[in-house]
Amino acid sequence: MTLPDVNELYGTDERCRELLERLRWPNGIECPRCKDTHISKLKAYARYECAACEYQFTATSGTIFHDSHLPLTKWFLAVLLLVEARKGMSANQLRRMLWGQHKGSYKTAWYLFHRIRAAMKEADRKMLDGTVEIDETWVGGRKKGLKPGEGKRQKEIVIGIRQRGGDVRFFHAQDVQSDTLYKFIHDNVSEDVIVTDDFSAYPGAMGASFKDKHKSINHSSGVYVVGDVHTNTVESAFSLLKRGIIGTWHKISAKHLPAYLNEMQFRFNRRKRADLFVDTLRHMVTADPLTFERLTA
Ligand SMILES: [Zn+2]
Repeated sequence: MTLPDVNELYGTDERCRELLERLRWPNGIECPRCKDTHISKLKAYARYECAACEYQFTATSGTIFHDSHLPLTKWFLAVLLLVEARKGMSANQLRRMLWGQHKGSYKTAWYLFHRIRAAMKEADRKMLDGTVEIDETWVGGRKKGLKPGEGKRQKEIVIGIRQRGGDVRFFHAQDVQSDTLYKFIHDNVSEDVIVTDDFSAYPGAMGASFKDKHKSINHSSGVYVVGDVHTNTVESAFSLLKRGIIGTWHKISAKHLPAYLNEMQFRFNRRKRADLFVDTLRHMVTADPLTFERLTA
C-alpha cells in the first residue's frame, strides 16, 4: 500500500468507513452491545440501530477511533505513515505531514499515534519454538545529575526473544535477575533450543525444562559465532529498535516504553506481509478505545 493507493482507494470518509465496516463485521453487522444481528440503517449518515436493544452505533463506536473528531481520511494516512516507517516516526513529523509546518498540535499528533499503537497488540500469541535467541539491552536516556558510569542504571532494560526465521518479542523488564528472565522464557518459549550470550543470569533462568537445551556464546571472550550458536538475529532486531529510539523518539519515558516496543515488534513481525496496512486497521476496529485520560494518567 502506497500513499497514492490510500488516496485513491480511501480518499473519502465514506470509503474509509466501508472498509472499517467490513473489517469489524466480516460476517455482517452486529450490535456492539448485545451482539444481535437485526440491525437497521438510520437516515443519519453511517448510523445503525439495533432492533433488540435500540443501541445506536457506527463502525467506529467503542473502538480505537471512538469519539475522535479527526476525519477518517487523516487517520488512514497516519496509519500508513506509522506502519511504513521501519524505525518509527515522531509525533512532530506526523503533525508536519498531516497539518503543515506551523499548524496542528503536537498533542493531537501524539495522541493519534498512541491510539494506533494501542491497537498493535497480538491477541493470542503462540509460543516461540525451533531455535530461539534471547538477549537483553538498555535503552533510553540518562537522567541529569548523574556521574559518568551511573548512566546505565537510569536506562530501561529491554529483553528480546526471537525465533530464528520467525517473530521477535520485546519486553520492558525491571531487572535482569535469573527469576525475571525465567518468567519471560517460560511464558514465551516452548521446549526447544535456546541461545544466549554468557551473561551470568542465564543458566539460572533456564529451570529444569531448558537446562539441557541452553547453548551460550562467549561474548566476554570476544567470540560471537560458533557454528549455529550465535545471537545475531535477536541483535539485528535490537539494532532497529535502537535506531528508532535514538533517531526518532529521542527520549522515551519508561511509562510509554511498552507501547513503543509493541509498535516495533508488530511492524517487524509483519514486515513481509502485503496486508500490513489493512491488518493494522483490523486491529483498530477490534481493540478497546484508549482515552486521553488513561494514556496520561
Ligand atoms: Zn443490541
